[in-house]
Amino acid sequence: MIKIILIVSILSFILILFKKKRNQAKPNFIFVNKKTKKYHQEECPYAKNLETITLQEAIKNGYTSCKICEKNKI
Ligand SMILES: [Zn+2]
Repeated sequence: MIKIILIVSILSFILILFKKKRNQAKPNFIFVNKKTKKYHQEECPYAKNLETITLQEAIKNGYTSCKICEKNKI
């Protein structure tokens, strides 16, 4: 009986680790406009034909969220 509990707890631990890894593997990509220094989410109408970088990179480079994206909370 103890063995079964041990196996179940190990399995759930592995599952938690796997979920965490999957979240890390999917960085938050956004679209940046170099002229306006704004970044857009994928769903934004202004996100077309723009460069794609991660959100962390955009913030680091001084980009701010566009007003439409912010308003719609995309
Ligand atoms: Zn936008």
